[in-house]
Amino acid sequence: MIVGVLVEVTNKNVDKIFEYQVEEKDQAKIKIGVRVRVPFATRILEGFVIEIKQKATSQHALKKIIEVTSEDVILNEELLELGKKMQEMTLSSLIYCYQAMLPKSLKAGSKNSPSKKYVTVFHLIKPADDTLTKKQQEVLSLFQNGPKRRDALSDISLARLRLLVEKGYLEERQEEEYREVFTVGQKEQFALTEEQQHAVREIEQTDKSVFLLHGVTGSGKTEVYIELIDHALKLGKKSIVLVPEISLTPQMIRRFSARFGKKIALLHSALSDGEKYDEWRRIERGEVDIVIGARSAVFAPLKKIAYIIIDEEHSDSYKQENNPRYDAKEIAKVRALTHHAKVVMGSATPTLESYARAKKGLYQLICLPHRVGGGTLPDVHIVDMNQEMKTARGHFSKALLDAITATLERKEQVILLLNRRGYSSFVTCKNCGYVLKCPFCDITLTYHKSSHMLRCHYCGYGTNLPQICPSCKQKAMKDLGVGTEKIEEELQHYLPNARVLRMDFDTTSKKGAHEKIISLFEKKEADILLGTQIVAKGLDFPDVTLVGVLNADTSLNIPDFRSSETTFCLLSQVAGRSGRSKRRGEVYLQTYNPKHYAIVDAKKNDYLSFYQEEMRNRHLMKYPPFYYLVSVKVLSKDENKCFQEANQVKKVLEKYLKDTILLGPSADTVYKISNIYRYRILLKYKYQSNLSEILNQLICYYAKKGNVKVEVDFNPVHV
Ligand code: ADP
Ligand code: ZN
Repeated sequence: MIVGVLVEVTNKNVDKIFEYQVEEKDQAKIKIGVRVRVPFATRILEGFVIEIKQKATSQHALKKIIEVTSEDVILNEELLELGKKMQEMTLSSLIYCYQAMLPKSLKAGSKNSPSKKYVTVFHLIKPADDTLTKKQQEVLSLFQNGPKRRDALSDISLARLRLLVEKGYLEERQEEEYREVFTVGQKEQFALTEEQQHAVREIEQTDKSVFLLHGVTGSGKTEVYIELIDHALKLGKKSIVLVPEISLTPQMIRRFSARFGKKIALLHSALSDGEKYDEWRRIERGEVDIVIGARSAVFAPLKKIAYIIIDEEHSDSYKQENNPRYDAKEIAKVRALTHHAKVVMGSATPTLESYARAKKGLYQLICLPHRVGGGTLPDVHIVDMNQEMKTARGHFSKALLDAITATLERKEQVILLLNRRGYSSFVTCKNCGYVLKCPFCDITLTYHKSSHMLRCHYCGYGTNLPQICPSCKQKAMKDLGVGTEKIEEELQHYLPNARVLRMDFDTTSKKGAHEKIISLFEKKEADILLGTQIVAKGLDFPDVTLVGVLNADTSLNIPDFRSSETTFCLLSQVAGRSGRSKRRGEVYLQTYNPKHYAIVDAKKNDYLSFYQEEMRNRHLMKYPPFYYLVSVKVLSKDENKCFQEANQVKKVLEKYLKDTILLGPSADTVYKISNIYRYRILLKYKYQSNLSEILNQLICYYAKKGNVKVEVDFNPVHV
């Protein structure tokens, strides 16, 4: 028996299938998709069996595989095919694509496979009879409803049980037990609203493969997903629910488990390797109906899929930013085709790309324009910080401080957002809020501390940091930056009685910390939840009636063409946390740009108005969704070489890609990472048939040559 093995080597050149011989003793364990250990050059590596055949193609003498290292098929037929598609979509190596689909402990080359957890279980194998004592018969009667774990029989001594084993009535077995990753929530009783029912019917009855569920915050999108999944389940079909990592909160899990009980698998980064391993095997063995997880859960080896739900589809977390740079939304579409399943993307603020596709009829658009239970959206106030400067206390306007005080007096709760996206990489005028932009790209210039230069990292344009603001002529150009600790101090100073909880990436990095903060706030053991963008997503606290955003415009200055979209999205999402139950909510947005459409439209909660304005800009500047983008990076340890080769790459692209606009090469946002220099060329195109082929040739050419590496990112989320 000969097998073709894809080995775990991370060089593009070696993405080939190598043939090995299988000895008699291993043949029974060989199946397509199992993991094996093989000799490779001078090393011993792991890989996946991709093909099985009787005759070798190679003329050379074949080496033998050392052992089969997995008992289960790790890559089933569907995933093997999906990996090939993914390779075409990302130009990554095939082995990287397969590795990305698997939890750590199942990847080829993973050092320590997690231990399985075993428990002692007693099984009845012969019914009780009169030869036994009364007590013994009593014990055996406990097994009427099936086997029992030892720890569920704690009032019976082990000796007594073992005696019954000896007599041939019971059998003692060591059985594998999965680690439990959640507990089932309490069932809530309510009927779907007209709007929700209508959404469900339309998704079920329309013959389309992708749906965009555009529903305002609190419109009950999650209940729509749950209903769809439930109906499908009754027909024996299963579903995957993707959520951004940080919205995979206990609140969310509670709602799903209340409806579906234990037949749910969770996949997210806070699980231990062992937990992930167990969850993955439960899925693979067909023991669960629903998989809920972050990006990589899109690869869950579920069979008979009816729905792939993508909640908060605007989240940038669905795109993987390192190799393989896949987009879970695109992967979902591929899998949906295979399974004849439907993809449902939901958001209060869909990406422009998705909304434009829905308007074109490529996706079916479904709207939930109202909050459940007639709840109204909050009143949003824009606080012009240019005006408030003189009366402000620290980072708080008087208006916001007064609103906080009033809310606390009513014993209601407050969420405060310190917008740290794009923080400190730009320079602004402290007096008028002016920010320098690139004259050619309409992108905020990035401040490079070492050279005191401002640079456009799309086209490479550079200028010195001006001393005097070009707009108000004051000497007040500064890079602004403030952390949540500072804001917390200010709160303690101005509102000494307020109980503040801080939630940011520092306070939530420990396992379980996020849940703990949420639970404290839920139990009303704090009045104010202060945090970075982490507080904007998916939280549902009925007593929050005030949301304050300290600096609504910071994210407008991210040097990225999506900065307005990011800002609109963030403000709409965080505003949606206020007034989710009966009481009316309020929102205060502090800003130096009170007239910016991203802020004005967020205040009006007017997605369509924002969409139209932003589409005009995108059209004008030739950005997505009008053009596709590809980022091509050239990396090298040698700064000069990096620059030279980047120019060389551009020449090649210019020659072969006639229908593509090329920008750069420019120094990447982070010019040097662990001593490797980085240049970037940005490609904009509508249609370019030979694009993948040319890019693939470039990648391979440099991979062979060494010293310089070319990386490609299709539809990058951060540019
Ligand atoms: P979204 O995901 O659109 O922001 P959710 O699904 O979180 O909205 O729903 C908001 C709140 O309304 C939740 O607390 C949910 O339990 C509740 N809810 C949803 N649908 C209904 C309904 N039909 N009747 C009563 N309450 C509902
Ligand atoms: Zn520029």
